[in-house]
Amino acid sequence: VAKKQRNTSRLYSPSMKDVSKREQELENGLFPALEGEQFVLYYQPKVDLKSGQIYGAEALIRWRHPEFGMISPLDFIPLAEKTGFIIPLGEWVLRTACRQIKTWEQQGVTALTVSVNMSMLQFQQKHIVETIQSIISETAVRPEQIELELTETIFMDNPDHTLKILRELQQLGVRLSLDDFGTGYSSLSYLQNIPLHYLKLDKSFIHDIVTDFKKQMIFKSLVVIAHNLNMKVVTEGVETDEELQIIRQHKCDLVQGYIYSPPITAECFIELYHKHVS
Ligand code: C2E
Ligand code: CA
Ligand code: CA
Ligand code: CA
Repeated sequence: VAKKQRNTSRLYSPSMKDVSKREQELENGLFPALEGEQFVLYYQPKVDLKSGQIYGAEALIRWRHPEFGMISPLDFIPLAEKTGFIIPLGEWVLRTACRQIKTWEQQGVTALTVSVNMSMLQFQQKHIVETIQSIISETAVRPEQIELELTETIFMDNPDHTLKILRELQQLGVRLSLDDFGTGYSSLSYLQNIPLHYLKLDKSFIHDIVTDFKKQMIFKSLVVIAHNLNMKVVTEGVETDEELQIIRQHKCDLVQGYIYSPPITAECFIELYHKHVS
């Protein structure tokens, strides 16, 4: 629990009444927070296991609340999804990540890929592809520097429509990643039907891998399947050397976890990057 709270804290309220009051307060605060520039993206490095180099980062949103301090996305993304605010917020996330790529380029780092999380609601937007395209051209990033992290929930509503959107995004040149694999009802059928570049194994899948031999065998098999389908495997939530050793042994491609770094500010990220390459 202590680790989980390293750079954000979950809100704690003693009673349900207080919880819903707090939620209401947060919900009402979302729009002013965007106007007031209270949202910030943190970046967590993804490390290439073969080269040891930082390959890119996942952008993870936080809310710097003037009263409550740093708020975890787990506390406000669900509210933003409930209210539809995730649409403008999601655009802000993508635009900010693209601008960050440009800023890093000006600081001499040209090869970074940055991933952003996409909600199902964003996918149901009529003009989602056009929106993404216009943010990419407005910020002048190369599409292949952008990775969209999607969860299987986007297939629950209208799988044919989702598939069509994903093909258009693939045409656009952005990278697509299936996020949180190994949670819920992960199905292999998604892997054969959609144009994916990365398979991202969730941290809950990893956390007992050292002691659970069957999990190791599933992990090993998933890597083989992903590789045969031309996907790279990203393992999330790696915290210990033992975990790293196992996933390395089973040929995972990229690692994201506290073992290298928690999510950090853009400034800290670039510092870490320079330390890492020198
Ligand atoms: P996620 O997409 O699964 O992101 C990975 C989460 O795992 C992050 O939590 C990250 O800090 C955490 N993590 C990474 N490595 C480790 C580790 O070694 N140990 C542990 N214990 N945790 C690790 P975070 O930043 O709190 O984000 C939580 C979730 O909020 C994300 O889960 C994602 O679903 C959502 N989220 C974050 N930013 C955005 C956003 O911009 N848009 C949307 N739609 N959702 C977001
Ligand atoms: Ca993610
Ligand atoms: Ca996850
Ligand atoms: Ca996720």
